[in-house]
Amino acid sequence: MSDKTEHPPVPAAFAALGVRNSILRGLAEAKFETPSEIQSLLIPPALQGVDLLGQARTGTGKTAAFGIPILQRAEKGLATQAIILVPTRELAVQVDAEIKRIGQFTPIRSVPVYGGQKIMAQMKFLKHGPEILVGTPGRVIDLLDRRIINFNNVRFVVLDEVDRMLDIGFRDDIRNILSRVKGIRSQEEGARDEGGGGARAQTMFVSATISEEIERLARKYMREPVEKLIAPGADEKPTVEEVAQYYLSAEPWDKYRMLRALLEKENPDLAIVFTRTKRGAEKIAKRLHADGIECREIHGNLAQNKRDHVMKGFRHGKFDVLIATDLASRGIDVADISHIINYDIPEDPEVYVHRVGRTARMGAQGKAFTFVQKDQGDELTKIENLINMVIPVAKVEGFEPRPPPADWTDAKPGSYVPTGEAKPVVNRFERAYSPSAGASGSSSAAQQPVVIQAPPRTIGSKIPINRRHKRRR
Ligand code: AMP
Repeated sequence: MSDKTEHPPVPAAFAALGVRNSILRGLAEAKFETPSEIQSLLIPPALQGVDLLGQARTGTGKTAAFGIPILQRAEKGLATQAIILVPTRELAVQVDAEIKRIGQFTPIRSVPVYGGQKIMAQMKFLKHGPEILVGTPGRVIDLLDRRIINFNNVRFVVLDEVDRMLDIGFRDDIRNILSRVKGIRSQEEGARDEGGGGARAQTMFVSATISEEIERLARKYMREPVEKLIAPGADEKPTVEEVAQYYLSAEPWDKYRMLRALLEKENPDLAIVFTRTKRGAEKIAKRLHADGIECREIHGNLAQNKRDHVMKGFRHGKFDVLIATDLASRGIDVADISHIINYDIPEDPEVYVHRVGRTARMGAQGKAFTFVQKDQGDELTKIENLINMVIPVAKVEGFEPRPPPADWTDAKPGSYVPTGEAKPVVNRFERAYSPSAGASGSSSAAQQPVVIQAPPRTIGSKIPINRRHKRRR
């Protein structure tokens, strides 16, 4: 049987980086033609076994950048040679899926392990001794403590989103895990085991942002000379500049109607609506459903298998609007997300960047809308300062703000979804905060709103099947 007739041509640009044929075939199937910048930078030294600190913007192919060298260098049949630590369950599933996809023509197997899933179910897969383990720290420690896995063969350690992994919340777990990897503990304690000491694990730590403090911590676990590789543009603050970003002035009681109007005008291919609370996500999803807009919700109250199911449906275009809490914002990697809607503006501006970073991945087009209440000017200003640009105001054509409904009290939570209707009032759309406090160069006082006025079309599941299939899996 001839391979040539069955498979797309292998990507020569990856071959030039030293990537082996079995992996090139996987890349061809995944339609990776040219390496992204971080891949070009990272793959050759990673194949040489150098310890690497890699920085590149969200969605620019970091997974394959560390996944390809591991797939290439791992030995068939030796359990747990690579341990890839990630901060969320969703990311564990995604990184594992990407490695499986790229490695489909290699004999190397990968298994995801994460909390919330029955340990017995994971044991079934671990019994076969997969070479690669992708996991969240808590579950990995659990598996080690129960002696279900051991680190005798570990040769590669990856911290994905290293900024988050070495942040206070995870730091102790990471220290615990890394201290069990050969060669790493002694370095942490200051005694380098340069040369001679036999096999030691190669470290590859990657992230969109790496502060000085994180770098200092990370280097404790790495062997010098560490190669620090920064993809062009990675250290320019925002990862969101290609996204067309707007804010919409909306009071809490108007936000749901605004959301509906915006979805109708924009008719997104794939949208994520972010809310601050789980309850808010639930309520919005319920209300959109009642209004005939096909959507699902994802948040921490859902069982893991439900979350996996929702993400699968979203990825495959079964529905086009996902209502999510921030839990999901780091983990979601779905190609072609066209719209991010911040129903609740995040208090932490970094969260805004993570949310908006879910769109415009790998250079795709994206739009982000943020609903801003009158008293949330400071939050908007903080975001503008962080991303170093002024976010223009927009208005949805035909949408008229209304006065507070009769059941309104100021104590309502951010994700208030009204049940009643109220009469329209004049739409002022004034800027919700003092321009003097805004980002540099702001001339927002005179700013004219961008009018969102695409002709209303059917939204939700009624998007024709042929349009849904244009996205990658
Ligand atoms: P990542 O940053 O690893 O989460 O990747 C973001 C998205 O880009 C994923 O859907 C990858 O499958 C895809 N991707 C990564 N590298 C490439 C490449 N060289 N060519 C095309 N797509 C890629």
